[in-house]
Amino acid sequence: MIPAAFDYVAPTSVEDALAALAEHGDDAKIIAGGQSLLPVLRMRLNAPEWIIDLGRIESLRGVRDDGDAIVIGAMTPHAVVGADPLVAEHALLITKAVEHLADAQVRHRGTFGGALAHADPAGDLGAPARALGASFVIQGSGGTRTVGADDFFVDLFETAIGEDEILTEVRVPKHTGWGAHYEKFVRVAHQWPIVAVAATVRMEGDAIAEAGIGLTNMGSTPIRASGVEDALAGQPATEDAVHAAAERATDGTNPPSDLNGDADYRSHLARVLTRRAVLAAAGA
Ligand SMILES: Cc1cc2nc3c(=O)[nH]c(=O)nc-3n(C[C@H](O)[C@H](O)[C@H](O)COP(=O)(O)OP(=O)(O)OC[C@H]3O[C@@H](n4cnc5c(N)ncnc54)[C@H](O)[C@@H]3O)c2cc1C
Repeated sequence: MIPAAFDYVAPTSVEDALAALAEHGDDAKIIAGGQSLLPVLRMRLNAPEWIIDLGRIESLRGVRDDGDAIVIGAMTPHAVVGADPLVAEHALLITKAVEHLADAQVRHRGTFGGALAHADPAGDLGAPARALGASFVIQGSGGTRTVGADDFFVDLFETAIGEDEILTEVRVPKHTGWGAHYEKFVRVAHQWPIVAVAATVRMEGDAIAEAGIGLTNMGSTPIRASGVEDALAGQPATEDAVHAAAERATDGTNPPSDLNGDADYRSHLARVLTRRAVLAAAGA
């Protein structure tokens, strides 16, 4: 289908984009890569009168080093994030997750910030963001605020970004030297995950000193599996120890049931995929 008619503006600064948002209010919608928004418009599930395109705002693109964190601009395409050496060095889990995100076309158009702002619980970037303790820089006409990953994802397709605000960048604490793995379970290639597990670990000798674990599609938001993280700390990276810790993967989850699998099946997957992801991240 063809979207309903809309007016279009492509500002070159965040301030101008915020001014356009303030002017058009509920009648406006931001577009980033358009990979999720355009299907919504074409199906006429939403019909904004104004589309505000962030594509010409250069300050929202790129990856930079900021001391103890790396900073990823919201409009940085997935393909650029996936190939970035700073990301690979300090947040390898993101590199691993992007490898599994959609196909090459979507990775070139879709953006890091757009995917996180869209907040699909089956999206591949929320779980790594939670596992790495990322924080989200959100700008509005009143200024800028930073929201931690634990508070950013509010519910299904709902984040802490207000109607009159823009996600400008994502700060990821450096996890230099940590092993990482993203284990995604799909029925066919390039699909959204039925369940996926993001795991990153810091090894000391043969033992797991610290771990960050995130779950995709095990609830209405990406979930941090803190029970597994606690159970892994100080344990050897052996099949038995990791298997025991992975049993806690379903703590605090509320997996959906749909045509791809019911909640029990997803719970089983979460435990199995957690074990696989942690062992791979630990290099075991
Ligand atoms: C065929 C196909 C397969 C896909 N497979 C996967 C997959 O396997 N895994 C996966 O994770 N994703 C997948 N995606 C989605 C992809 O990751 C999209 O890039 C992403 O969901 C949306 O990013 P975007 O930049 O295209 O945002 P858009 O579609 O432009 O916007 C999405 C939403 O976020 C809002 N928004 C965007 N940027 C901002 C911002 N900076 N501040 C505030 N609000 C903002 C928009 O208003 C809109 O509501 C797939 C998409 C397609 C088309």
